[in-house]
Amino acid sequence: MTRNKPRLIVQKYGGTSVGSPERIREVAKRVARYRDRGDSVVVVLSAMSGETNKLVALINELNPNGSSREKDVVLSTGEQVTIGLLSLALEALDYPAKSYTGTQARLITDSAFCKARISKIDGSKIQADLDAGKVVVVAGFQGVDSEGNITTLGRGGSDTTAVALAVALEADECQIYTDVDGVYTTDPRMVPEARHIPKLALEEMLEMASQGSKVLQIRAVEFAHKYNMPIRVLSSFDDGDDGKSTLVTREEDIMEEVLVRGVAFNKDEAQLTITGVPDQPGVAFKILGCISEANIEIDMIVQNIGKDGTTDFTFTVHRNEYEQAMNILKATGEKLGAKNVSGDDKIAKVSIIGGGMRSHAGVATDMFKALADENINIHMISTSEIKVSVVVDEKYLELAVRSLHETFDLDKA
Ligand code: ASP
Ligand code: MG
Repeated sequence: MTRNKPRLIVQKYGGTSVGSPERIREVAKRVARYRDRGDSVVVVLSAMSGETNKLVALINELNPNGSSREKDVVLSTGEQVTIGLLSLALEALDYPAKSYTGTQARLITDSAFCKARISKIDGSKIQADLDAGKVVVVAGFQGVDSEGNITTLGRGGSDTTAVALAVALEADECQIYTDVDGVYTTDPRMVPEARHIPKLALEEMLEMASQGSKVLQIRAVEFAHKYNMPIRVLSSFDDGDDGKSTLVTREEDIMEEVLVRGVAFNKDEAQLTITGVPDQPGVAFKILGCISEANIEIDMIVQNIGKDGTTDFTFTVHRNEYEQAMNILKATGEKLGAKNVSGDDKIAKVSIIGGGMRSHAGVATDMFKALADENINIHMISTSEIKVSVVVDEKYLELAVRSLHETFDLDKA
């Protein structure tokens, strides 16, 4: 009789899931249940909830503009605590476990401290431990560059660690345990009628994450999308293993394509406008190039049709970078002899997302009608194959989300 190869599951637990010794013990018990079924388990952990914020505060008290290398030395410590504690908790239950920091896991990144990108993972040591029957517990959010410096992946980076490890180890599934039991049609804290989504496509999740859904870190979804790694989102607060979850998976595994899967929103943006610039080749580059050069990411861009030899541009940036972008734009405006430079940081972006939009027209029109019926003015519009986004005044955000959620029947089974 041939024995089936054990399944390999990567499980990531966020800060609240390991926020106390009791919670860590619950995680250990869950891992033990998977081991009892014969699965191999790699666990990726965040720091205890609030810990990374505390570390950031300590850094800011001493030297907020200090070297990023040293910041990462500090920021990476929170995860070292939880991996050691979980390994001890597993040991106490008689399940052999071994912890790995990012360096020990040979999770190699570039040297962009505080926002490093993973370039390679050498999983051979981890694999050997798994083969020896151990649970491997890896620190999320951190790696090591080719010089041996500790790096971190940016806030919320543990999701990315988990997906990257799942890809490197060819895991069967990457499970992300959090404080919610999956992905919803919109944020249930804003719209109580929001419904749980059992299954959606990686590409839909990618749009949702980039349009403001906070359930999964965007880079983790990008990674999963690129390598076709299924992600399951579950709550670590559900007892047992038959609670609800959301499977974010390959397009071909989605039976039912829906027109609109969800409504995402984002309050983290600000818009800037420059008017009366010469309507000639190279002007977009001059205006937006200076912004990009300062490493400020631009999201939406609108250029008006030129009139009387001049044109206008409006674009959005992250709200944190609003002032910096405004200063740069004012300087460019002077150089170009622009008529006016203005901005608004009280805006919000609302998006509808769904794989079915690919093959159905008219969804955008329905969206605009719903907003018009509520008397909500649209500042900007952008679309992709499976998404329509609009920018509106922040004060209408909730109304916009609620009315779109209802318009597309997302509150109905
Ligand atoms: N502990 C890190 C943070 O709070 C990484 C993570 O939780 O994913 O950002
Ligand atoms: Mg987190």
